[in-house]
Amino acid sequence: MKITIVGAGAMGSLFGALLAESGNEVRLLDVWKEHVDAVNDKGLSVEREGETRSVFLQAGTDPVEADKADLVIVFVKSSETAKAAETARAVLRKDGWVLTLQNGMGNADAIARVVPASRVLAGTTSHGATMLESGKIRHAGIGPTVIGAWTGEDATGTQKTAECFNRAGIETAVADDVRKLVWNKLLVNVGINAITALTGIRNGELLDLESTRWISRTAVEEAMAVARRLGVRIRDDAVSHVFRIAEATGANRSSMGQDVDHKRRTEIGAINGYVVREGEKLGLPAPVNRTLTGLMETLQEHF
Ligand code: NAD
Repeated sequence: MKITIVGAGAMGSLFGALLAESGNEVRLLDVWKEHVDAVNDKGLSVEREGETRSVFLQAGTDPVEADKADLVIVFVKSSETAKAAETARAVLRKDGWVLTLQNGMGNADAIARVVPASRVLAGTTSHGATMLESGKIRHAGIGPTVIGAWTGEDATGTQKTAECFNRAGIETAVADDVRKLVWNKLLVNVGINAITALTGIRNGELLDLESTRWISRTAVEEAMAVARRLGVRIRDDAVSHVFRIAEATGANRSSMGQDVDHKRRTEIGAINGYVVREGEKLGLPAPVNRTLTGLMETLQEHF
């Protein structure tokens, strides 16, 4: 497959490397010139469990130079999705697909405003990656990837992409109801990310005090009410699921926590902020999510 990755940071570079190693024609597109130059000059360095390998693939900053792709994968942070969607449109073949595996909600809809909605695929991945320096990433964790057609219309793109990913060693399943899947992941991020990011704690420490558990539980319940009003069949045990994930990933800093630690803008607008905006449209107030969003916006404004 001819694949272009828009947003070749930690995750985009990881997926690009795995897909290139399995014989696909991959091009990385990123606005970060130093990283693009490093990949073109020396290859992409991928560290996994202490071993480092180099993967040679093309990288660029200019979408005009890229051949039209069968599959475009958007892997920018969600605040940049609207811009990345324009790039995706420019480099996509007419009969190609655009996939988002980003965290948060609103990414697939933002892409579907620019690219025909029937060509948009979405999903979640449990792979983890960290950017070490330009041209160098760490493959930090391996886990399942699940994808589906955003409008539920196109089974071909989902199937072809899943087959391509599985050949690349990216274990991928197909979901019938991808909205439910993305919402269930959102609920986990709603319950863990902002709280840990604002307080500096690790995921497991969220469970230590009833006061912290209350904030997490209430934020998740507000989000569940929004999802249900939208007709999304989210899991009923979302709060206990969030607590189980916090325990299972107890020693980790959440991705939003890491963003704050490095004074990078967070994905708050696509996580708790999304719940607030959708709740407002539906007449469902989400005061805990509003507070978490406001505090996070304040913090990142003063980095
Ligand atoms: P990252 O910050 O490492 O990479 C994002 C890249 O996008 C950067 O290199 C940036 O220069 C580039 N970019 C920004 N604007 C662009 C534009 N207009 N066009 C092209 N490139 C642009 O982020 P990441 O950790 O790779 O995360 C990407 C997404 O994947 C996020 O939604 C994140 O929540 C999600 N995710 C991350 C992980 C992880 O382990 N890192 C795991 C699962 C999901």
